[in-house]
Amino acid sequence: MSGRHDKGVNVQVLLRCRPFSNEELRNNAPQVVTCDEYQREVAVSQNIAGKQIDRVFTFDKVFGPTAQQKDLYEQAVIPIVNEVLEGFNCTIFAYGQTGTGKTFTMEGECKRAKSGPNGELPSQAGVIPRSVKQIFDTLEGQNAEYSVKVTFLELYNEEITDLLAPEEISKIGIEDKQKKLLPLMEDGKGGVLVRGLEEEIVTSANEIFTLLERGSAKRRTAETLLNKQSSRSHSLFSITIHIKESTPEGEELIKCGKLNLVDLAGSENISRSGARELLKRICSLDSKLTRLLRDSLGGRTKTCIIATVSPAVNQKMMKTTLIKDLYGEI
Ligand code: ADP
Ligand code: MG
Repeated sequence: MSGRHDKGVNVQVLLRCRPFSNEELRNNAPQVVTCDEYQREVAVSQNIAGKQIDRVFTFDKVFGPTAQQKDLYEQAVIPIVNEVLEGFNCTIFAYGQTGTGKTFTMEGECKRAKSGPNGELPSQAGVIPRSVKQIFDTLEGQNAEYSVKVTFLELYNEEITDLLAPEEISKIGIEDKQKKLLPLMEDGKGGVLVRGLEEEIVTSANEIFTLLERGSAKRRTAETLLNKQSSRSHSLFSITIHIKESTPEGEELIKCGKLNLVDLAGSENISRSGARELLKRICSLDSKLTRLLRDSLGGRTKTCIIATVSPAVNQKMMKTTLIKDLYGEI
């Protein structure tokens, strides 16, 4: 654990570099990023306009191209989910250019898959299904009543769409489309709620794959019919847990924790000032994303930013790495 955490700063920034894609291999894309997981360092070597630029960045954790979904989960996410099970609100962001592995990291690529005979998740399962599994494994082993609810929404141009709403998006006009957008309201308890947002009660970890599939299908339909560009949208998957415990004195204790899993819009959509812009977006009071996360940033919460990169990135890599220099400001 780094010194920062000992001092109680609960923001971690991790870097994950995916393997070369087939396209990058076909194009003989040069390797620009080299990861040293042990030293938690990432070396970026690029030739920009004939000038060789080499820089090294340190992160709280570094996951190189051979790191598996399980590795990232075990090393970075388990402590966060434990905190949520204790009744706290935590947030994990995936941040990076389109095509660098944000959705792979958060959702994974096995939505229809069922877990194996020992309840093992498929190896490609990402943070969302793994978190849900950890939550159920823990709760099922305890002698307490509990409930687990999830919501899944998309934020596009500050407009909220419910990715779990049962009705299909049809070829609808602008007026109808407006009606489908959900308003954000104060809940009177210092938080906000999205009016009309579908809350799905989950009773086992396996159900999560069906929900993810439903959400992605809806996202794809909306993308085609409403002419959206998915790289410009954020998605927010939230898991809320209520646990009712009885103290030895017979008193009832309710613990309520929430885990927000955010797949941010492609960082290439984040304008000139790059990471600073992202932080501004996360912190600015009038952004809907921040309002949605208001009860989960600051205080006794943990925040984790997973910056994703390709091993063959261009100059924009610099933007992502800037987060590391800035994260103390969050
Ligand atoms: P993004 O959501 O950032 O646009 P994706 O998650 O869709 O990117 O990833 C782009 C492609 O790269 C996908 O085909 C995905 O399977 C692959 N990919 C991303 N990260 C990894 C990884 N760590 N290991 C293997 N394949 C990956
Ligand atoms: Mg994606």
